[in-house]
Order: sequence, then structure tokens, then C-alpha cells
Amino acid sequence: MDRMHRKQILQRGRPSAKWEGEPMLGGWYTDEEFETVMRTIRDSMDPYVGFGFFCDEIVDFEKAFAQYCGTAEAISVTSAGAGLDMAIMALDLQPGDEVISPAINFKAAHYAILGQRGKVILCEVDPRTLCADPADVEKRITPRTRAILVTHMNGLSAPMDDYLEIAQRHRHPKYGPLQVIGDAARACGGGYKGTKIGKKGWMTVFSFHTMKLMTTLGEGGMITTDDPDLAQRLRGIRMWGEGSGRWGGNYKMSKVQAAVGLVQLRRLDEMIAPRVRLARQRTEMLRDVPELTLPYEPPDCDHTYYLYTILLPREWAGETRDKLLEMLKEDYGVETTVANPPTYQDNPFIRQHTAAQELPLSDELGARLFCAPLHPLMPEEDNEYIAAAIADVVERMKAEGR
Ligand SMILES: *Cc1c(COP(=O)(O)O)cnc(C)c1O
Repeated sequence: MDRMHRKQILQRGRPSAKWEGEPMLGGWYTDEEFETVMRTIRDSMDPYVGFGFFCDEIVDFEKAFAQYCGTAEAISVTSAGAGLDMAIMALDLQPGDEVISPAINFKAAHYAILGQRGKVILCEVDPRTLCADPADVEKRITPRTRAILVTHMNGLSAPMDDYLEIAQRHRHPKYGPLQVIGDAARACGGGYKGTKIGKKGWMTVFSFHTMKLMTTLGEGGMITTDDPDLAQRLRGIRMWGEGSGRWGGNYKMSKVQAAVGLVQLRRLDEMIAPRVRLARQRTEMLRDVPELTLPYEPPDCDHTYYLYTILLPREWAGETRDKLLEMLKEDYGVETTVANPPTYQDNPFIRQHTAAQELPLSDELGARLFCAPLHPLMPEEDNEYIAAAIADVVERMKAEGR
């Protein structure tokens, strides 16, 4: 996009819609979801039926989700946060046991480990993908390591085969190969080496929170696995020990959520497609701005573009990045989000439990990155405006001699 084109686009004026850096509604509903919700509520208005958990809606949604991911099992839960807690519970951590997880992350994974009294061992990410760097993961393995809990960051699959290979080579003396767990809260529907995210690893946790790629009335989640023993354990944890003879609580999704989830899952691919189209158009428009490192699509992955993440130059890390984001907001009306700096940076609880750990690369990346708004319902003109605003603000920053 040359200077004249950029100015032309900016002169058209700001988009009428106000796009947030991470919009509050990800997967949106059509008449089919509205009708499904109403029908499911109506069908429940019978004293013999109600909203009971043992119903076709839950069974059908889980079956369809497992089929979509190509896994033997899918276990619906109340949220990805609950699913991550359950995942770490299933590890039966002993005092001093360690779980490796990337520092550039949403806090849920680290909270899940700490909630089970595990030790969080932070690792660096690959700057191109923002997913855990396998070589760095391997360096941090000790005899106390039990699992590698990675996040499919911002919609892109992490390199699961690399972690699985490392996990095989580093057997725990008692528990065998390390377990590899995926947090796919931002990556439902993404692909990796011809499989869907959710297929690789011990288990994968998904979110259907309102912001995510598909949504089940604001909250909801799913765990996929090919391990039948794990599935049974998770079903037990989900519902008062059911079938496992062990401790359990209540992490059950509701019937109406499952009913709407089934429709959302059918529409998932068509909801992701516009994200990918808009993201690629934006990348094309920003390609000739050398200051910007744009999202990378590894050839063996299908990115879902949950977020569109940009890296600024090293010299612009921190204050200059913040100034640039401020200018984007004030002068162009373009909001952004920083997803995510290392979890310990603004979280005293996580900092306290990872105190001596230093992650210089993650600190740097957290100070260079930002996410520009992207939404499947975004008109192309708005996408053009956002790209033009970013190119323009970079030009101005350069002119200021930064
Ligand atoms: C949103 C999110 C979660 C938490 O999902 P909930 O369903 O809201 O609990 C966990 N991990 C990541 C990476 C997320 O983006």
C-alpha cells in the first residue's frame, strides 16, 4: 500500500463500527442458534425432563466435537479454565512436581498448575509463532518435570510433534513419558499437519467463552483426548466422581449450551474463513512496512486468526510501543490489545511463584507485540482503514526519529 493509497483510505473516515482489540463476541449466532435455544428451553418444560445433564444435546455435541477433531473422546465442561484445572488434577501432581509452560500466555494455564500445588516452569516462545519454543522447553526439563502445557497462541497451532518427541525422550522415572497438554482456547478449528488442533497430545482444552471462535452462550469448554482412561477420569472429575471411584466436583456444561454448541460447531469453519481472508488481506496491505513483523503461517498449520498479532522493532519495545498504541487510539480511533505479555508481569500471584525465573526473550516480545482488531464480520473497508492507520502511525513514529 503506497502513501497515496494510504492517505485516500484514511480520508474516507473512521469505520462506523468500534472494533476492540479483542472483540467481546467471537462466534456469532444466526436464526438457527436462536431457534435452537428457544426449542431446547421449551422442550425442557416438563417435570420429567427439565435441563437434566443426561440428554441428547450433551451426547450429540460431544460426539460431533470428537468427530471434528478426529479424537476418540470429547468431554464438555463449564469453561476452558475449568478444563485446565481438570487437566492438571488428572496429573496427580506430587509436591515439587513441575509443569513447563510458556511465559507469553494467558494466565489460565499457570493458575491451573498453581491451583494443584504444582511448580510453574516458564519457557520462552518462538518469536515467529509466539508458541512454546521446543528447544527451550527441552532445556528446562528436570527429573521433577511431569508435563508440558502449551498454548496454541492466538489461533495458531503449536508444534505438537516436536514436544511429543521431546516428551518421549525424557521419561519420568515413575510416570513415563512427559504428558503434553494443549490449551486451545483461542484455536478451536485450527489445523496442524493435516489434523485438527485437539488431536495431538494427551489432551487439549477448548473454550467457548463469548470472545472465542465459537461460543456457547458466554461460557463453556471441551476437552479432547484419545486416552480412554483419561476420559473416564475427566468424566469423574466433572461429576462427583462418576464412574471413577475418585474425587469429583461439578464442571458440567448445560443442555442449552450444548444445543447451541452443536450448531456453532457446524458453522465453525465458515466463521473462521472470513478471519483468514481478512488477515491475509491485511498482511498483503502491510507487507511493505519493514518495521512490522506480521503474523507467520507455518506451511503445515491452518491459522484461525483468533488475534492478528504484530511485532514492532526491538528499538520500539516498551514506551514507544505504548505511545504508538496510544496514537492509534487517539488519532485514528483504532483500539488494540497486548496479548499477551509474560503472565508474571502484571500478576503478583504468578510472579511470587516464579520469582527466580528469568525470561529475557519473553520480556522483550511482550514489550514489542500488539494485536490489531480482527473480526469475521468486519467489512473490508474497516480492515483497510485499520491497515492504513497502522502504516501511517509507523511512518509518523519514524519521522519522530524513534
Ligand atoms: C480465554 C482463554 C482461556 C480461558 O477460557 P475460559 O473458557 O474463559 O475459562 C484459557 N486460555 C486461553 C489461552 C484463553 O485465551
